[in-house]
Amino acid sequence: MISREQIIYLDNNATTQLDPAVIEEMLPYLTDYYGNPSSGYAFGAQVRRAIDLARERVAALLGCEPGEIVFTSCGTEANNAALNSALQLDPARQHIVTTAVEHSATFRHCEVLSKRGCLVTTVGVDGEGNLDLEELESALTPQTAIISAMWANNETGVLFPVEKIAEIARRKRVLFHTDAIQAAGKIPIRLANSTINSLSLSAHKLHGPKGVGALYVNKRSAFRPSLLGGSQENNRRAGTENVASIVALGKAAECAMAALEDEETRVRALRDRFETSVLERVPGSSVNGGRAARLPNTTNFSFAGIQSDAALMMLDRERICCSAGSACRTGAIESSRVLRAMKLSDEGARGSMRFSFSRFNTEAEVDKAVEILAQVIAKLRALSPAARMPEAAAV
Ligand SMILES: *Cc1c(COP(=O)(O)O)cnc(C)c1O
Repeated sequence: MISREQIIYLDNNATTQLDPAVIEEMLPYLTDYYGNPSSGYAFGAQVRRAIDLARERVAALLGCEPGEIVFTSCGTEANNAALNSALQLDPARQHIVTTAVEHSATFRHCEVLSKRGCLVTTVGVDGEGNLDLEELESALTPQTAIISAMWANNETGVLFPVEKIAEIARRKRVLFHTDAIQAAGKIPIRLANSTINSLSLSAHKLHGPKGVGALYVNKRSAFRPSLLGGSQENNRRAGTENVASIVALGKAAECAMAALEDEETRVRALRDRFETSVLERVPGSSVNGGRAARLPNTTNFSFAGIQSDAALMMLDRERICCSAGSACRTGAIESSRVLRAMKLSDEGARGSMRFSFSRFNTEAEVDKAVEILAQVIAKLRALSPAARMPEAAAV
């Protein structure tokens, strides 16, 4: 096994390490406090109170009421549940408006819904990853059930103007769901006076465990559950609660809220230090979505003349963890759907890499990663001297 001491982890949009405070808080619910929160005796009721506290903490992170939080098994389930609910509310409204850059947890769901007869309109983005709000608004019809648009993009970090989308949705009397799985814990979210109808988050993207998430459902919005059975989660999500993970999500939300300022200053500075150094050190490099409003922790590079999956393998040997925008699947190079939607050239999409930081990264890690990355890119270019690198000479 590769231990975490051996790696430099720059893939925090894929998942994050657990905050030690989170583990400490969740462990007793796997050992001592194993009661069922629905049981009538005190040994169960104490567990119910732990879930209530977690709900309050998640609500505090989102600036909403605890009663508006539904715990789910992951972020994907929360996104699926929001769309499924909207489609069940009115049989005459079976149209979804979404975007070309959504996570597969929304995008693939919409593809399947469209095969089942639901109408799906996919709104595009410009070269910086920004959404065209006029195009979004003109896609809405009296049959539209819901708009689903992410708050922060997992590949580029680009932020959508969700409050503006919520305003359009309110005016047109359409529901609005936002996948805030990358946004939650990284940028401030205040839902109290918002007209966003639903929002999803996931614990493992904010230093909590995998396999637990939450769906915010505005108290004025109707909701139809996807999972039916017991009356857990106020009849909005049946199934005995994953108590330890819910407790952990609550603690992770509390820690994230305390660290929000750190994210905006120290994590942003780490990302900026990395970005500036790579642009300086590596000719033919550019930042995708770099001129858009972005998360403080994410950068997405294109390196001219390289294949990002090859770079990923070489970085892996140096124990640097990051993501490639292209993957070689069954012999063909498949490049990022998000970057293609941003109209990147094939070469730009094939040579793209994402680096995402967290409060557990250090300046020393950033500097070492830049050093190794610059060597890896140079090595790859030397291996394929035929690679065209038009910008390289100019930079
Ligand atoms: C990770 C992620 C998801 C999926 O969340 P899971 O908890 O892994 O199911 C959905 N949307 C975005 C933007 C993500 O980054």
